Formats: sequence, structure tokens, C-alpha cells
Amino acid sequence: MPVCVDLSELLHTPGHAIPYDVSVPCGPELELPCTSPVEGHVTFTNTGNVLVVMGRVTTTLRLSCGRCLEPVDVDLDVPVEEEFIVAHGEITDLADGDTGFAEPALQALIKGNLLNVTELVRQAIVLEEPGEIVCRDDCKGLCPHCGRNLNEGTCSCVPDDDSPFSALAQLQKQMTDN
Ligand SMILES: [Zn+2]
Ligand SMILES: [Zn+2]
Repeated sequence: MPVCVDLSELLHTPGHAIPYDVSVPCGPELELPCTSPVEGHVTFTNTGNVLVVMGRVTTTLRLSCGRCLEPVDVDLDVPVEEEFIVAHGEITDLADGDTGFAEPALQALIKGNLLNVTELVRQAIVLEEPGEIVCRDDCKGLCPHCGRNLNEGTCSCVPDDDSPFSALAQLQKQMTDN
């Protein structure tokens, strides 16, 4: 079950703000490779015609090293920022420019006056998820020939480039071609 918060009272009291402690368990509805719950703090503010959501959450994602493919736990601390149009005490749209009614995104976040906090933090984390990570700066990666993790030791494959052996092989090939 997603974590939801009922904003009915706030939506009927323009000028008010409520603090909210985020605690979303690392479950399947988060659709993230998390290893810890998503926790943090946001503030919901009703400005009169806009509901402003602002805060930060932290979690840990288990990602793969881009070179050796070993799992790496990455700590994230991400901003949570969203704005919704409010009319007559109800959320009517996302306030994200002039694209009109952002139906699927809004429906994932809002049911009546219930805000889906799980979806809110999921979207915030996906935006900040690092694309390419390495387990350590000097990760040697995998051998492109035999697939061995070179952090664990060398293999007997001959490197492709800059090797005296490949230069020699080239020279021998040239000599036989002539
Ligand atoms: Zn690595
Ligand atoms: Zn190898």
C-alpha cells in the first residue's frame, strides 16, 4: 500500500502550511532498487491558488558499478519539489507550465484530496538517480575478452592496445604481407 496524506483540511485553509515527516518503506510500489526506507521532511503550503510541496528525502539505492558490475550502495539526499493548482479547495492540475492537464502524472499523485507520498518521493528520486557510477575511482573493470573482474586479479589475456606484443604482431603481419 502506498503512503498517502489527506490534504482536505489544508486545501480549505489558504495561507496555511503543514510540516510532514516522510517515512516510506522500501516496498515494491516504490519501484526502486532501495536498500533503506525513504525518509525526510516536506512542508505542504496552501498559497491560496497553489499547493506547494517542498522538502528533502534520503534513501540508499543498490546500483551496479559501470565498469565491473559489482553492486554499489549509493546514498541519495534529494529535493522534493512539486506544485499543484488549487481551486475551490481541490487540486485541479499540476502547476508545471503551460502544458495543460498533465493527466497521467497528476492521477498517479492525487486521488481526490489524497496525495500519494510514495509516488511523490519515487518521482523525486528517479530524477536524481545517478546514471553512471563506479565502485571506486580506480576500478579496473572487467577484461573485455574473458570477463574476469580485474580488481580481483589479472587474467592471461593480452591487452588490445599499447602492448609491445600487439606492436610486434603488427610488424610480423606487415612483413609477411610484403
Ligand atoms: Zn567497479
Ligand atoms: Zn581476460
